[in-house]
Order: sequence, then C-alpha cells, then structure tokens
Amino acid sequence: VPEWWPALAVFWTLYLIDGIRGGRRDRIGFQAAIGRPCARAKQAAWHLPPPLPTAWGVVVEDLPCSLAAEGLTNWPAASTSRPPPLPDAVQSYRWEDVREISTRTGWIRVNGRRFAPVTPALDAAELQRLTRALSTQGPTARAEHLRDWHRRRLRPMRLRRRLQLALGRSRLLAELNTGQVAFLLALTTYFLGGGPDHMPPAVRDRIAAALPWWLGGYAGVHVVAVGWFWRLHAKLCPERGQERGGLVLTAVLVPAQGLRLRQHLVAALGNRQHPVSAALALGERTTVAQLTRDTLADIRWPRTPTGLPADTRKIVASAGSLLEPLIHAASSRAQPQLAFDSMFVPLPAASADACAWCPRCGDQFVRPESHCPHGVPLQPLARSALAKESGKKSLA
Ligand SMILES: [Zn+2]
Repeated sequence: VPEWWPALAVFWTLYLIDGIRGGRRDRIGFQAAIGRPCARAKQAAWHLPPPLPTAWGVVVEDLPCSLAAEGLTNWPAASTSRPPPLPDAVQSYRWEDVREISTRTGWIRVNGRRFAPVTPALDAAELQRLTRALSTQGPTARAEHLRDWHRRRLRPMRLRRRLQLALGRSRLLAELNTGQVAFLLALTTYFLGGGPDHMPPAVRDRIAAALPWWLGGYAGVHVVAVGWFWRLHAKLCPERGQERGGLVLTAVLVPAQGLRLRQHLVAALGNRQHPVSAALALGERTTVAQLTRDTLADIRWPRTPTGLPADTRKIVASAGSLLEPLIHAASSRAQPQLAFDSMFVPLPAASADACAWCPRCGDQFVRPESHCPHGVPLQPLARSALAKESGKKSLA
C-alpha cells in the first residue's frame, strides 16, 4: 500500500540512527553485534552501533592535552588516535599561572583563552580541581597526584566487568526488543509487499480484524520494555539520573528509538577511560596490539614540529614519561600477552633502496638522514633483514 511507505521509512530511519554518536572530532569506537566484549576499534568522527537490539557500542577519546608536574599544554601526549587531537593554537601554562578556568560552547578556557575541547575525562570543573590541588604541591607530589589521576583512566578490568554485567543484565531486554523488531519487520514486509492484495480475502480480513489487538499488545510490550530499561539504568548507572529521564521520554514518545535500549546501558561505560584501557577491556587481539603500539609510539616519538615552544615540548615529554609505565603496566596484563620486545622492530626492508624507517608510523625511507613527514627522526634499517629476505627468495 503506497500511502504507508513514508511513515515506515521515517520509522526505520529513526530506528537505524538510534544511538548515533559523533561530532567534529575523531573518537575511537568499539562495537559488536553480540553480547561479548570483543570488538574491533574504529577511529571516526561518527559512530553507529550495528542495527540490532543485541548490539553494543562504546566510544572513547584521547585527552586533548598534556598534564605534567611542570604544567599543562593543549598539545596532547600519549595519544592513541592518528593523527592525535592537535590544537590550532598551542598554549602552555605552569600550574601556578592558571588564574581562571571556564567553559564556553564545549571548550575549556584557561585565563580567558580557548584551551581544549571538553571531554568526558576532563571538563572545566575537573581541570579546576586538578589545578587547585597541584598548584600548592611540589614537583614530586604533583607527579604522584597525576599518576593517581591517570590510573583511574586505566582500569580495563573494571571496564570489562561493568560491560559484562550490563550485557548480562540486559540480555532478556535485548531479546524482548528483538521480538518487537521482528514483529514490526514482518508487518512492514506485509504492507510494503502488498500483502493485503495477494492474500485470500478470508485471511486478509482476519489479519485486518486482528491488527488492532496486535498493535494494542505491542504497545503494552513497549511500555514493559521501557519500564524495565528504567530500572536497569537506575541500577547500572545510578549517577546518570538526568540522562535517564531524557532516554525514557524519547523511548516513550518515539517508539522507533525504544527498540535498542541495551546500547544506552553500555554507551557511557568507557567515558573516562584511556583508549588503551578500552582496547584492553573490549578489543579483539589485533586491536589491543595495534592501539597499545600506537600509544607507546606517540610517547616515545611524539609529534613535535620545529616551531613548537621549548616549554610545551618539555611538558609533552614529561607527561608522556609519566604515562608510559602506567600504560605498560595496564597492557602487560593483556591476555594473550603482548609482544613488547618486537613492537618496535622494523619489518624487513620493502625494497633494495630502503635504508631507514620511522619507528612511529613504521614507514620505510630511502634517505637515512631525513625525517618522516611527521617530523620524527628516522632510524637506520638493518641491512641484514633485507639480506635474509633476498637469501630466502634465491633459495626458493
Ligand atoms: Zn613517521
């Protein structure tokens, strides 16, 4: 029946975009269609969980600044994303020089200047608390305070437990939602496929007579599902009361957005976690290895263009060396174990001309004295690797 399709198109579009997250910045998303914490990471500005009621998605992001005992800068350290969240205008402060912190349109402002975007891990209030604590401490106490602060962002075991709990508790709710979606899909197929025209009149009339009852029953199930979601959300995310009201209201008023309720129980779990922590908790094996390597490479060979002020450079290096042992400690508990020894060993030379490589991005170069396009000094490529490779080839 042609007059049905615009309404159905709107309904299913609203269903598909339920749970979409994004914005101007890149974030790292972990998504899976099934109830297991084993996802591939994807870096993108927009993230949409798989279109199933059983799916879940967690989105995390790098801290868009460096925090060190010497001070803070909006040039990031220990970033997992590529490229890291680099600022348009570099700013650096000693902690004792920070006079005023405020927020405007999603940005933290320091001393009246736009500093860094607000992120779940660090908003103006959190930076204010850090500044107040750090500005009265000595360098050693500052470093210890920051290490404690970062440790809370590196708790993969806790994140994994919380995800497993949320997935377990929402299993039946996800199944109920799946049943609702199946019913609505069947109904959509019936009407869009011109079901009433193909059916024998007796069957068609019986369906037409039963339809109000089915829809009434569906409305009852919808109310039960939303009520159930309310209780689960209150138990699993007690601190997110404000968000809960909005989610429940949307689910009630826009039934198409009340069919993937599980994802709203999971979405905020990784909010404050470092991307490496999220990878360790939720990622599949290759994701864990890749994201840990990228983060450690950003600490050891950070992007520091020639124009970057010396004090900024110092804060970035100091923030990185503060974080490196913490990231190492967290990722050394990964199962199966990560091969830290071979993480920064170059691959065999790709061509006979290649004689240098960039340990940050892994690219190979033919001019040993140069820098990679990101400003990282190149390292010589072992010729033995090439020799071994060509030896193998000649034998074969
Ligand atoms: Zn490079």
